[in-house]
Amino acid sequence: MEELFSSSTFKSISDDYGKSVKVLNDAGQRVTDEQKLAAWRLLMNTKRTEHQHYTRLCEQWSKGQRDSREDELREIRQQRRSQIEDRLIELGWGPELRERLRQENGSDDFWNHKLIRQSKLLTDRLWDQITPTVFELLQPVRDRRLRVEQINVLKPRYEALKRCYDIYIFQQENLKKSGFPPFGDVIESHIGYDIIFNTPYEQLLSEDAFHEELKKLPDFIDDWNKRKTQELVEIVQKDIPEATVDTLGLVKTVFCCQSCNALLWYPAVFQHRCRTHLHTHASNLDIYHGFNPYDQLDTVPWNKHSTRILFSKTLSISLSLIMQTCGLDPDTALLEDLDSLDDVILECKNCYHNGRRTFMRWSRAYFGQSHVPTPVKPSEQLQQKLLDSEKSKGGHMIYTCDHCPDTPMGKQRRNYGDLCSHLLQEHGKERVTRKDWSHGPSFNLFEKAPSHIVLEWPEDDANDTPQI
Ligand SMILES: [Zn+2]
Ligand SMILES: [Zn+2]
Ligand SMILES: [Zn+2]
Repeated sequence: MEELFSSSTFKSISDDYGKSVKVLNDAGQRVTDEQKLAAWRLLMNTKRTEHQHYTRLCEQWSKGQRDSREDELREIRQQRRSQIEDRLIELGWGPELRERLRQENGSDDFWNHKLIRQSKLLTDRLWDQITPTVFELLQPVRDRRLRVEQINVLKPRYEALKRCYDIYIFQQENLKKSGFPPFGDVIESHIGYDIIFNTPYEQLLSEDAFHEELKKLPDFIDDWNKRKTQELVEIVQKDIPEATVDTLGLVKTVFCCQSCNALLWYPAVFQHRCRTHLHTHASNLDIYHGFNPYDQLDTVPWNKHSTRILFSKTLSISLSLIMQTCGLDPDTALLEDLDSLDDVILECKNCYHNGRRTFMRWSRAYFGQSHVPTPVKPSEQLQQKLLDSEKSKGGHMIYTCDHCPDTPMGKQRRNYGDLCSHLLQEHGKERVTRKDWSHGPSFNLFEKAPSHIVLEWPEDDANDTPQI
């Protein structure tokens, strides 16, 4: 602790006290004179007040000196900041400065950098010294800004091209039968590429801009269909060497996506867009200047990367067997012929137990391969029973209305309940039949096959139908 008085100061006060206050009494002793003491106290108090006052003045002066120096330094730093700001803005870094400030949210890391926050005005020489660091600090902000700007410009251009493509496909009835390339293949074909990348970013692009480019579509699609159909034939030929294009059209020619296990048929197999695809279409991204149109548009070229379309020999054989059981000739049956099996009800005799019988549709028999299905001649009650149980479990969004017109974006998918109320409200259909709806495009037969139903059912109802 600091001493309040030095020992010499204490001695002089103590001497003064002895001289001014003490007097000799009659007995020759030094005693305190009360009057003198009061006077001495008064004097001391006055001195102390004066002293305190003087000390305060000294302190105020000193603080004033300090404050004005600090103000001065702050002023210099502020000027330096303005100098740096001016030079950066002149060099085109204005957006990065604003962005940097916005990101730092007031923390000001940039302006507090030790090379920037200095109480020294900028000279050309000092500026040359700090520029490499300043640019290094701002470059990541610039990169990020340019990436966002690029996406904001290029993505809508690709989306416009996609809308044009969807409308074109929608207008070509024949393509629904032959199949057509997914948009990922259109991107890969570079149709529209020059317009998308060579139009200045600040220029707004309308769909009309693609008018000339779209004229390339018919030849591109034609060529693509030929190549991919040949690719499919070759996939089948690995198991069936004599397979031809005609083989692709048979319903027994079942394809399977190795990634998501979806069962697919030609030509809808061309539209399979694997939901499990990872965003890995990274080859040749250089030509897109770092922009990834596949990720941004959520599309990939057909049968590339994580998606792998295979021909499934096992599923083809078992589907042929089911078709034979239900009276269809697998060597001639086409996909639409499967619809005729919708009313067929099969029973598995192996599962019969104590009057309880197991009924199912062909699709369940197909996937539940442990069953031994036999077609039965169902009564109306049994048909209704199956329909009711399927209705109550029909939560999947796999139905589209056959009475609504198609649109370039495709039809709305509904679950069975929604479908029924839609048919009643919009089309006045009180009774829903198989002619009122279709399965939506991404319908996955494997997952959505109605399950079998176990019923205590009279033996004299629903007997075997004769095999054809
Ligand atoms: Zn898939
Ligand atoms: Zn069974
Ligand atoms: Zn409708």
